Amino acid sequence: MGQFNIGRYYLLYKYGRHFASREKLEQWQRKKMNHHLRYIARHSAVYRGKESLQEYPIADKRFMMENFNQLNTVGIRREEAEKFAVEAEKTRNFTPKLKGITVGLSSGTSGKRGIFLISDQEKDRWAGYILAKFLPKGIFASYTIAFFMRADSNLYQAVRSRKIRFHFFDLYGEMEEHVRRLQQISPQILVGQPSLLLALAKEIEQGRLAIFPNLVISIAEVLEKEDEERLKKIFGLEVIHQVYQCTEGCLASTCPEGTIHLNEDIVHIEREYLDERRFIPIVTDFERKAQPIIRYRLNDILVEKKEPCACGSACLALEKIEGREDDVFWFKGYDGAEKPVFPDFIRRCMLFMTEEQIEEYRVVQETDGSLHVYGDLSEKGKKEAEKEFACLAEGMEFVLPQIVFKPYSWEKGRKMKRVERKRDDLHHG
Ligand SMILES: [Zn+2]
Repeated sequence: MGQFNIGRYYLLYKYGRHFASREKLEQWQRKKMNHHLRYIARHSAVYRGKESLQEYPIADKRFMMENFNQLNTVGIRREEAEKFAVEAEKTRNFTPKLKGITVGLSSGTSGKRGIFLISDQEKDRWAGYILAKFLPKGIFASYTIAFFMRADSNLYQAVRSRKIRFHFFDLYGEMEEHVRRLQQISPQILVGQPSLLLALAKEIEQGRLAIFPNLVISIAEVLEKEDEERLKKIFGLEVIHQVYQCTEGCLASTCPEGTIHLNEDIVHIEREYLDERRFIPIVTDFERKAQPIIRYRLNDILVEKKEPCACGSACLALEKIEGREDDVFWFKGYDGAEKPVFPDFIRRCMLFMTEEQIEEYRVVQETDGSLHVYGDLSEKGKKEAEKEFACLAEGMEFVLPQIVFKPYSWEKGRKMKRVERKRDDLHHG
């Protein structure tokens, strides 16, 4: 990896990509896309000869894995990549590369394993981009960053220099150990998933931890509004930043106003609308070449913001990331048809409760359709929750299934989702 390259990309992203209008942005994107697609059509066997974007098939994880060998442009076979990545996870040594390429595993919510390939150049780009987006004082100031991750990969070590001290924390580690180390390094920047940030906030609240980061960045899970408010309060910050990213790229991030914008300066996003403002993003990364990401359809539901953001960015502003398409609940409608209910409506049922305010809850729709509510509720609280769900069912005209109440819990290290639908993986991809 090159410090020099990271610096170059940092400058490019920080100063080189501002667009006066949406029109200018789209114009520029078209040029970038044409150029990129020409390269891909020449170098990726599975896309050979394709011309316009519309000729490329919509891709998902299955497509990427099934066509792994013909898709990547660096001559890596799926079997060798898989073996290599599993070995790294097992030994927790993420430094080696395969044919000069970083190989990583991504576990989807459905438990299906994906493999990602990233070249050194792409890594430098990624690091430069993140730094340009978030470092408040530029790359020449010093920073101590605490980064919580499910597993390390040398992807994240790219962001390391004399001035930027980057401390990796294993999500699976013990909280006591985290607290001790955090106390010692006193990070200015704290990066982690919301469930972890909330756990740290609790430590702070109870006086076991005293750190004062001036930048808190939420990654990997959906940050719920109420959790965001809580983090703001406890960390004393006006904005909790968010990066919406997956192995398919860094797709959206917050601006200084705290609004999430699509990162349309590095990815092209088609929108598959579900209603007037909700859409599923279909991503084309016009900078990734080792493992091209072309028209990759994500499972997430994003919600457009109605009003433009005050920051003036030409990139689309989002109201929020609502959750996975997989986590839309399905109920039997009065008319017998299956009725989809977006995660937001389920969340609101829990938030509208007035008798009892709970900070921690999860609502899971089981494969048999029933609702399991995890939360430490009193009898009165349970009654109220039931009433809220009944109200929703009536309003949306569906038959309310059985509701089962359970104490709050979630598996450590697993992605925490407030609203989740269990799937029968035998029948679904
Ligand atoms: Zn903005």
